[in-house]
Amino acid sequence: MEKVILLRYGEIYLKGRNRSYFERCLIDNVKEVLNAYNCNVSKMPGRFLIEGFDPDLTEELVDKVRKVFGLHSLSVATVVPYDLAEIGRICAQVAPNTGSFRITVNRADKSVGLTSIQIAAELGGYVLDAHPALKVDLHHPDKEIRVDLRENHTAYVFMDVIAAVGGMPVGCSGRGMALLSGGIDSPVACYRMAKRGMKLCAVHFHSYPYTSLMAKEKTLDLARILTDYCGDIDVFVVPFTEVQIAIHENCPAEYMITIMRRIMMRIAERLALKHKCGSIITGESLAQVASQTQESILVTNSVVERLPVFRPLIGMDKEEIIVTAREIGTFDTSILPYEDCCTVFLPKNPVIRPELSLIEAAEAKLDVEALIQNAMDNIEYVKVERR
Ligand code: ATP
Ligand code: MG
Repeated sequence: MEKVILLRYGEIYLKGRNRSYFERCLIDNVKEVLNAYNCNVSKMPGRFLIEGFDPDLTEELVDKVRKVFGLHSLSVATVVPYDLAEIGRICAQVAPNTGSFRITVNRADKSVGLTSIQIAAELGGYVLDAHPALKVDLHHPDKEIRVDLRENHTAYVFMDVIAAVGGMPVGCSGRGMALLSGGIDSPVACYRMAKRGMKLCAVHFHSYPYTSLMAKEKTLDLARILTDYCGDIDVFVVPFTEVQIAIHENCPAEYMITIMRRIMMRIAERLALKHKCGSIITGESLAQVASQTQESILVTNSVVERLPVFRPLIGMDKEEIIVTAREIGTFDTSILPYEDCCTVFLPKNPVIRPELSLIEAAEAKLDVEALIQNAMDNIEYVKVERR
């Protein structure tokens, strides 16, 4: 009997006029994830079906597809032509030997004559014949065997419902430009926004030779891990050393980080607009460090003129962020000890509540436009492909 994978997506957000748009986006994403595999993905009413794959690869496929945003659960099912004895035989095969069970029939095919309950009772008979020690328990069964009877006179028999990541299909919410450092937070911020359907680009600022090339590689590794969820990510690596030296030489030390972040945001906005992104994303979390107070955020935010800045972690504790980082597999890479550009010329006492007018006055000592232009002229573009 052939094995297939049934994919379910949340009904709630797919209702309404945009349903077919979301469905198309989602099935395209599933197909993209399975690009390298020999299999067929098709749409059934209310769900998708993967078939025609090598059964030895079932687990691998499940693991890939589980990470596609927009899917809520999946099940590996056996396909059986509509014949009660045959379906009963498969139910008996998947059933446990002891304990209790129930059979739940979902009958999309109304032409079969019997009701769902009648079919379940009959199939239960086959299971009990094969496993006399088993008991039926409709309310609190140890195992539930599900039988989906579809319109095409085919039954899908399965037990386990495997949770997928949920969210919205990547791409259905447009594109965003994420500031991706090598830290713990920004990869989680990327994950959060991709989960709401955003297709990501990323910008990384690096201070070679003050920081090692490994810092850049680490960030690209993080992007590669994120592709499991986000698909391919265009990463723009911006040389930031010249900007940092200019600030260091011309501005008060305590303003270093604030001014640096204002220049990062300006570059991020220009890149975002150039690459058709509708927002900027950062991994900031309120009060985590000096540059993440309301006053600091106001001062860095004020240079962004045309786009919203999303900070999906703003209300999260570090511990909560770490839980997600571990879940999505970025944590171990994030904690590798390569210095980020933010540690170069790090002042002893960064200003915690910067005042916009003072920062603007200090910044006036710089040729900000020339610094931005020069950094942008030397951007390295890396297409990080789904691994
Ligand atoms: P993270 O863990 O994401 O590095 P953090 O706690 O170290 O964050 P900051 O260093 O203040 O906090 O950085 C705040 C946000 O600014 C980061 O989450 C990221 O979005 C952005 N950012 C910081 N450094 C860089 C960098 N070198 N390149 C790109 N973005 C950066
Ligand atoms: Mg950091």
